[in-house]
Amino acid sequence: MKYISTRGGMAPQPFSDILLEGLAPDGGLAVPELLPQISAETLESWRGLPYADLAFEVLSRFATDIPADDLRRLTRAAYTSQIFNSEDIVPLRPLDNGLSLLGLSEGPTLAFKDMAMQFLGQVFEYVLTQRNTTLNIVGATSGDTGSAAEYALRGKRGVAVFMLSPHGRMSAFQRAQMYSLQDENIHNIAVRGVFDEAQDIVKALASDLAFKSKYRLGAVNSINWARIAAQVVYYFHGWLRATDKPGQQVSFAVPSGNFGNILSGHIARSMGLPVRRLVLATNENNVLEEFFRTGVYRPRPAEQTYATSSPSMDISRASNFERFVFDLVGRDAARVKALWSDLARDGFFDLSALKPQFEERYGFVSGASSHEDRLATIRSLYDQTGVLVDPHTADGVKVARDHVEPGVPMLVLETALPAKFSETIEAALGRPATPPGNLANLESLPQRVEIMDCDLAAVRGYIEAHAKV
Ligand SMILES: *Cc1c(COP(=O)(O)O)cnc(C)c1O
Repeated sequence: MKYISTRGGMAPQPFSDILLEGLAPDGGLAVPELLPQISAETLESWRGLPYADLAFEVLSRFATDIPADDLRRLTRAAYTSQIFNSEDIVPLRPLDNGLSLLGLSEGPTLAFKDMAMQFLGQVFEYVLTQRNTTLNIVGATSGDTGSAAEYALRGKRGVAVFMLSPHGRMSAFQRAQMYSLQDENIHNIAVRGVFDEAQDIVKALASDLAFKSKYRLGAVNSINWARIAAQVVYYFHGWLRATDKPGQQVSFAVPSGNFGNILSGHIARSMGLPVRRLVLATNENNVLEEFFRTGVYRPRPAEQTYATSSPSMDISRASNFERFVFDLVGRDAARVKALWSDLARDGFFDLSALKPQFEERYGFVSGASSHEDRLATIRSLYDQTGVLVDPHTADGVKVARDHVEPGVPMLVLETALPAKFSETIEAALGRPATPPGNLANLESLPQRVEIMDCDLAAVRGYIEAHAKV
């Protein structure tokens, strides 16, 4: 299996080579040259596999340059019941009226980012060891991604993590989660500024090519293909748990931001998994909902991006969307390139001519949810079923209810646990959400964080002093 760029300007490369890279050299994203196909017979043979072994089966189709025994060891190390606090790793819980909850948030940071990041931590360490080299991950986070990366890479050989966060702007729980890590290879840097300013420092460091190559800077952002591949696994797992015979159709509802999670659903469906609908749910930042409704993709400037009560979905442009558009235009890289230059020039592109295919051919439908919808959904679901969901998952449940069909199980992807966003749970129910037992005293643990001004030279100096060499 080799990978090419959505914009056509990259020689085909194996999995391990695209693993450590961000954008392709031509500005596009890496995608498989040909998607593996899983027959109904193979799918049936996977029933009853533990999650780690299912992950091996799926990922071995993508990481063909990693020997099978090694890859199996990596998936078994990533997906353990200790790390995921659950025998099933991804539990499936029935809700009501045909809806079920696919539990992707049992990992260490209580959000679905752990599903991919735990595998990424294992495979990074493996590839770096093989190549006898090191990597310094530099990123900025406003919450979920940074903490998932830190928990996945803590104590791993050959990798250090420098994670910038906006000082005083994360929840007490999120701060405790990141800053309580005492591993020597994890560096929390709280900068006196907002998230965008922290992000600007990371971009400036990454565009300083001499610094970047001297300190071997890397990223673990949402365009990383290994993350997309690792997420494909839980669509297969959900289907296998929700069905008992070949060919049965299942729909998935996905709270969406950067289009990473639902892209993995699209890949699973394209590999032959019997998925009827992929229900894309957004919050008030509805760029993607608008695209699937109208065929026009119009990202918004940062000042038109609302701060909502499902903050991990507050995006203005969807970084993984290009991979779906590549398929939508018949994998025509020249067309993708032209669309993205239209986007740079006009601020939008129009694919409304292809709109009939969105649902008929690709199964996509969409809907948006508001703050009021979120609170009402959290309340009604709790009243009717006793199940408490987080605000992002509530957006998914709200939109799923509008698209559920008789006889077709609708699996709503649970993208975070309610304890992570307790303020909104309190607004909905009048009482906070309690964290899982093992995290009850998280906020009282000692914290390790470097607080500094939002200053490029200061951050650069810190990295120079602490980087893995
Ligand atoms: C990251 C995140 C999302 C959005 O996922 P995408 O892959 O960016 O679409 C939704 N919910 C939560 C809790 C998240 O952390």
